[in-house]
Amino acid sequence: MSLKNTHEIDIVRVSSSKIDSVDFDNLTFGTTFTDHMFVCDFREGKWQKAEIKPYAPFLLDPSAKVFHYGQAIFEGMKAYKDESDDVWLFRPDQNFERFNKSAKRMAMPEVDEEIFMSGLHQLIDLEREWVKKGLGNTLYIRPFMIAIGSGVIAAPSTQYRFMIILSPAKSYYSGEVKVIIAEHYSRAANGGIGAAKAAGNYSAQFYPTKLANERGFQQIIWTDDATHTKLEEAGTMNVFFRINDTLYTAPTSERILDGVTRKSLIDLAKRDGIDVAVRPVLVEEIIEAAKDGSLKEIFGAGTAAVVNPIVGFSYQDTYYELPKIENSFALLLKEKLTKIQYKLAEDTFGWTV
Ligand code: PMP
Repeated sequence: MSLKNTHEIDIVRVSSSKIDSVDFDNLTFGTTFTDHMFVCDFREGKWQKAEIKPYAPFLLDPSAKVFHYGQAIFEGMKAYKDESDDVWLFRPDQNFERFNKSAKRMAMPEVDEEIFMSGLHQLIDLEREWVKKGLGNTLYIRPFMIAIGSGVIAAPSTQYRFMIILSPAKSYYSGEVKVIIAEHYSRAANGGIGAAKAAGNYSAQFYPTKLANERGFQQIIWTDDATHTKLEEAGTMNVFFRINDTLYTAPTSERILDGVTRKSLIDLAKRDGIDVAVRPVLVEEIIEAAKDGSLKEIFGAGTAAVVNPIVGFSYQDTYYELPKIENSFALLLKEKLTKIQYKLAEDTFGWTV
């Protein structure tokens, strides 16, 4: 598959790159950015001329609607470099579609495919040097859109800015992850914006996650808002549960983000003969399985960490530790997916671009 790259973009290059000042062995996730950024504004009902220019702050009116009404969406994806120095993206079509789904839900204009894909292509092409070879080295890609129109009136903006920024990253390891199953707070509700990658979904999680952190847990597994009986997803990851040798994960819904990693792992697992059941997962059955020993693994799946094994969880003030097992599905699937992303295994699905 190749990227559509037909949209004309004005390019202004930096006079000198800052790449030599970056310590690629000691990167803190999401804090270092490359030399350039992609910018395209929406005004007078249409997308304007796109630009790639030096990465820098920009001015906005204090009444810009993004500050007051939170019209802001984003995506997260990665670029990988193979042994022959070619740079690859993983299923960018899925991120593009999800971006526009988020835009629609937030009453923002959809971005043209040519603009999104040409922006990605040309920006990453310009920043090739920032994608380092070797497993675990990636360039994290953050497309986002904000409402820049001014006016403290609670109505959608008529002006928007679509941007792409790039951040080199080492493989993301968050240490041992213990989670709390949500009993009171909710991340999303039916009819809400849970399925959109909208900024507000993340700020809404900060306070309950802070309370969980204070109790020694890193993440929350969110449950359905109405009954808190169904397990849905974690902070920035979808979740899988392994009971005996079957993997269970909730179907995506209005409340759950349709993760690219999740759907890729489901396809990979099925291809390789692992039983996968996509159906609502009840808190009750996970507690039962933890008690009788049939619960083998819980793991999160998302672009940042690929797969993040969970070592234990708390529910109603009881802590359940997961067993340490040899043939972990989490690690097996992580390896299979990573090898496809770095072109170390054949991509039978045609996911890499
Ligand atoms: N759920 C949420 C809420 C997320 O923010 C993310 C990260 N995008 C995911 C799941 C995983 O999605 P993906 O595999 O596409 O990164």
